[in-house]
Amino acid sequence: MRLLLTNDDGILAQGLECLCTAAEALGEVTIVAPDREQSATSHSLTLHHPVRPIRRGERRWQVDGTPTDCVMLAIEALMPERPDFVFSGINHGQNMGEDVLYSGTVAAAMEGLSLGVPSIAISFAGGDLRADVSRLKEQIKVLQPLLKHLTSLPDFPRDTLFNVNLPPLAADEVKGVRLTRLGRRVYSESVAPMKDPWGRQIYWIGGGEITWSGEPDSDFRAIEEGYVSVTPLHLDLTYFDVLEGAATWWRDL
Ligand SMILES: [Mg+2]
Repeated sequence: MRLLLTNDDGILAQGLECLCTAAEALGEVTIVAPDREQSATSHSLTLHHPVRPIRRGERRWQVDGTPTDCVMLAIEALMPERPDFVFSGINHGQNMGEDVLYSGTVAAAMEGLSLGVPSIAISFAGGDLRADVSRLKEQIKVLQPLLKHLTSLPDFPRDTLFNVNLPPLAADEVKGVRLTRLGRRVYSESVAPMKDPWGRQIYWIGGGEITWSGEPDSDFRAIEEGYVSVTPLHLDLTYFDVLEGAATWWRDL
C-alpha cells in the first residue's frame, strides 16, 4: 500500500512524525509537507508564483506551499505512482465542527479526494501541545489499528473522507471509537483590538474563548467523553434536503 502523508503544521511538526510512525506499519510512506506552518489556510492553492520541492530524505519532500499544493504536487508530479491513500495530520489541535472549514489538515485530505484518492484527516484534540506531546505520541497506539481498519474497509465510501479527532488521553484511557457528526463551535471575542509599536490600530484574529455544542452523536461530545471521533465528510457540499424542499420556490419564476 502506498501512503501519501502531509499536514498543515509543517514538515518538522511532531504530529507528522507520529503519523509517520503509525503509517509505516501499514505501507510505503511518502511525505510531502509544507516547509512551515500553514494552519487555517483551508483549501488555498498557490497560483501566482511557482512552488519548489526540496528533498529531505528518501520519499520525503518539503514544499514552500500550502497543504493543498503539497497533495497536488505529490500526486501529479513527485510520486512515481499514485498513492492508495492520503493521510493528513496529525494536526496539533482539534478539527471539529466548523474548524473543518478553516483547516489546512482537512483541506489536504479533501484535495486527495478531489484527485480521486481516498483520504483521512487526523487531529489531536489536545490544547497546549508542549504539555501534551507525550499524550500525542501515546495516540500512535490508538491510531494505528484505526488506520488499519479504515484502509481495509471492503467498500471505502466514494467521495468521502474520514475526519478523525484523537482525545488528549493516555492510550489506555481512550474508551473507544465513535462514528460522529460535526458539532458546532462558538468563538467569542475572536478579534482582539490592539496597537502596533507605532500606535496604530491593529486586530489579532484567532484568540478568545471557544465553546462547543452538539448532539450526543457529535464529534465534540465524543472527545469530551474520552472517545476517538470519526466523522465522514463528503466532497459534494450540496444540501439535498433544501434542494428537494426548494423545488416549489421556482414554480412562479
Ligand atoms: Mg495545524
